[in-house]
Amino acid sequence: MSELALLGGPKVRTKPFPAYRTIGEEEKAAVNRVMDSGVLSRYLGAHHEDFMGGPEVRSFEAEWAAATGARHALAVNSASSGLHCAIGAAGVGPGDEVIVTPYSITVSATAPIVFNAVPVFADIDPETWCLSPQSIRERITPRTRAIIVVHIFGQAADMDPIMDLARQHNLVVIEDCAQAPFGMYKGRPVGTLGHMGVFSLNYHKHIHTGEGGVVTTNDPVLAEKISLIRNHAEAVVAAKGVGDLTNMLGFNFRMGEIEAAIGRCQLAKGATLVDERRRNVQHLEKRLGGVPELILPQERTGDKHVYYTHTLRHDPAKTEVGRDLYVEAIKAELPLTEGREGEGVLVRAGYVKPIYLQPMFLTQTAYGRAQCPFRCPHYDGKQDYRAGLCPDAEAANASIMIHELMRPPMTDADLNDVANAFLKVHDNLGSLLDFSLRRAA
Ligand SMILES: *Cc1c(COP(=O)(O)O)cnc(C)c1O
Repeated sequence: MSELALLGGPKVRTKPFPAYRTIGEEEKAAVNRVMDSGVLSRYLGAHHEDFMGGPEVRSFEAEWAAATGARHALAVNSASSGLHCAIGAAGVGPGDEVIVTPYSITVSATAPIVFNAVPVFADIDPETWCLSPQSIRERITPRTRAIIVVHIFGQAADMDPIMDLARQHNLVVIEDCAQAPFGMYKGRPVGTLGHMGVFSLNYHKHIHTGEGGVVTTNDPVLAEKISLIRNHAEAVVAAKGVGDLTNMLGFNFRMGEIEAAIGRCQLAKGATLVDERRRNVQHLEKRLGGVPELILPQERTGDKHVYYTHTLRHDPAKTEVGRDLYVEAIKAELPLTEGREGEGVLVRAGYVKPIYLQPMFLTQTAYGRAQCPFRCPHYDGKQDYRAGLCPDAEAANASIMIHELMRPPMTDADLNDVANAFLKVHDNLGSLLDFSLRRAA
């Protein structure tokens, strides 16, 4: 048995892992088609036939809607923009609260602030890391207007009880599907379970257009509001005859024709790319299943986990070696990934610090010196963002290990190297423990 690389032994592998590259000849041809047309965007911010964009945007939207089973799909320039559209379309405003998760990227929790509403953090389910329905229930107040549910790491949140709560309390549910395109909850596609779904097409996501996003909904009224917020609503409402002017201050969140043309190609590949990830995870989990200190992610019956990342838990009851050193030892065994060399080995201890621990929340400072929306005179609630607010999110971040070494085109041989790194660390836990004691002394 060779010594751990962290302790000076040979690495399991030195040859870099292959880049995740989804852009190919189809996308080049699609981009050239747009270039040849000379029309890189056809939007007009006016009540006009070009209000809904050009031919590539419209085709992309129709194809996205068909692929996901949503009645309406609206292309935007990022999922962040999409969340802003969704919150605005939901009618969220000053004095309102929106229940959000602490365990995601910040925009999943800050989008309500753009409409002067206050994010209220509910805790997560320690098994799926998505919002816990029980915790949501405890944090609903008369001020609650909406919930942003994130399907984190590619796994669907437990939507049925969340939608029950939403019906009881008349809340709008926005699904942040940025990490879960093509995912399923009990046989139903994510993004169609709540009132609106938001997808990301940024470079790091399963499929991408460089930057981009999509908002889905089955509700034609919400679809119209999203299209207005995306494209200069205030300048369009009068001519369009829009009656409800709530949140009809628009932005420019429009997607260009080149991105839409790329998006159509990417959409066609998406399901296959997801299936490859699932197959790769299965291969890895077959090798890692017997390692007692690793708790593998569980897929709910009827669900389709799309593995934005492969997220494992480190069980401290099974080894005295702490999670951080364990991850350090695994990283030392493995090489970089082509195209992302600057990020180091794509294995991480933890994901993000709970969002409420960021300075904007700790100090409750967003708009102006008046600290709106937190101290807004329209807001009669009070938030106390502090450590301890969501104990399960804080605990999760101290126990999870995330890796991305299951993305196509990883071969079985590549995957075996990943598994071998974990198994080697497991087999050397004794020497790793000695090392940690020496280092502490
Ligand atoms: C990536 C991501 C977003 C934001 O996507 P952009 O398209 O970069 O704005 C939002 N939520 C989650 C969960 C994400 O992973």
